[in-house]
Amino acid sequence: MNEPDQKQLSNDRSAILRSIPSVEILAQSLELFDMPQLLVNRIIRKELETIRKDLTESCSGNGQNQPPGRESIEARIQSRLRSTARTRLQSVINGTGVVLHTNLGRSPLSEDVLHQVSDIATGYSNLELNINTGKRGSRGAYAEWLLEAICQSEASAIVNNCAAALVLILKEFTSADKREVIISRGELVQIGGGFRIPDILESSGAILKEVGTTNQTTLEDYQRAIGPATAMILKVHQSNFSMEGFVESPEREALARLARESGVPLVEDLGSGAIVPTDNWPGTQREPMPHEILKSGVDLVCFSGDKLFGGPQAGIIAGTQPLIYRLKHNPFFRCLRCDKMILKALEVTAENYLDHEMASKSGGHNRMESMIHQSVEALSIRAGAILQSLPPAKTAMTLEISKMDSTVGGGTLPNARIPSAGIGIRGGNNSDRTIKPSAIHAFLLHHNIAPIISRIENDSVMIDLRTIDSSDDEKISRILAHLIESQNIQ
Ligand SMILES: *Cc1c(COP(=O)(O)O)cnc(C)c1O
Repeated sequence: MNEPDQKQLSNDRSAILRSIPSVEILAQSLELFDMPQLLVNRIIRKELETIRKDLTESCSGNGQNQPPGRESIEARIQSRLRSTARTRLQSVINGTGVVLHTNLGRSPLSEDVLHQVSDIATGYSNLELNINTGKRGSRGAYAEWLLEAICQSEASAIVNNCAAALVLILKEFTSADKREVIISRGELVQIGGGFRIPDILESSGAILKEVGTTNQTTLEDYQRAIGPATAMILKVHQSNFSMEGFVESPEREALARLARESGVPLVEDLGSGAIVPTDNWPGTQREPMPHEILKSGVDLVCFSGDKLFGGPQAGIIAGTQPLIYRLKHNPFFRCLRCDKMILKALEVTAENYLDHEMASKSGGHNRMESMIHQSVEALSIRAGAILQSLPPAKTAMTLEISKMDSTVGGGTLPNARIPSAGIGIRGGNNSDRTIKPSAIHAFLLHHNIAPIISRIENDSVMIDLRTIDSSDDEKISRILAHLIESQNIQ
């Protein structure tokens, strides 16, 4: 490249860079987003930096690149702002029919829980003050009373989640010369996104001592594995899958007896842990209940606060007094302690379990249970009312009351299919184009009234009303009216 070319290029480059509008000018001309202006400016600045960098790099190539026009810069920034705004924690309409949806926050809390949490959260409380003595008290003491009544256990402890409970238990009961944790090969499960029991075990410094086979583990298998290095026996509820056929595992009572005779603790990770018998629910089997497991001789159980318990994210540990005492005195316990809002939410959720009068009035002990007990008829009537409210479709789309199945989710009751009803949407063929289910799904997901999370089944988009509060029906009507009036979905 000769001298004049070089000069020309650098002139071009600075002209192009100068043509890029400033943050202030862009901030004024863009669509408004409900985000603090300082954040908007920061996102614009970062995006402009990227645009400048791209330009500088492409200019130093052949110098032939056209600068992006003002419109395309604005569009690019607009889309970055929009996608950032969507990451804000916000309410969504859960039309998936998955009652405990981990991606959607698992169990919703009821209003009465929230009111009581709000009183505690906005002021001071006796979180760690014993009002009887005026001295320091223990966090969560009353919640523990309630949990012990529910689990019929001598003692209990509360931590951040069930995974944390498991790590705490492993840390406490393993030591340098007793590191082996005996677990059946049929229970080395993965729960949800990357949470693998073997990895958790190993990260806590425990050594996995696998026994039996995937489908067969006998008492003798456990017996043979017990030795001087045994720290504990762990049972893990299979949670998100079930095995049928030639499947065997020893009776809990027998395993508990073996553990007691060998002087090693027997711990069971229940994951979900049902507080009411789930075999009375429509389409569901029996999920193990903490009090039954403890009664059969297991020393400790742990389960989640936001699965079948129906409360906030927490890990609940229940069992014998000496073992719980040890857990609470482990230095790591301090790292897993819950906040006041969580403890209050857990406390109210637990109180509601012990108040049967309240449960029979509101159709369940908590919102999750009330959702599960809604009848198909009631849901169909709601679907009918929503469809009635809609204008006639302009595009070739069919909307109808559909029968479907809800699931419990959250890695619990994997075979449960709860008969349900909602709205099914099929995109038909217009003369010139086909409306794809994925396009309808995306329209609902990105709607600015509220994101509706639907599911696609047999080329239909399904909105299951079981997991949607009836107070949202009016929003759904407006969004669906918008959908069928839209001409540009494809
Ligand atoms: C869900 C689950 C966990 C994890 O519970 P979190 O409260 O999400 O930490 C652990 N073990 C089992 C068996 C589970 O099903």
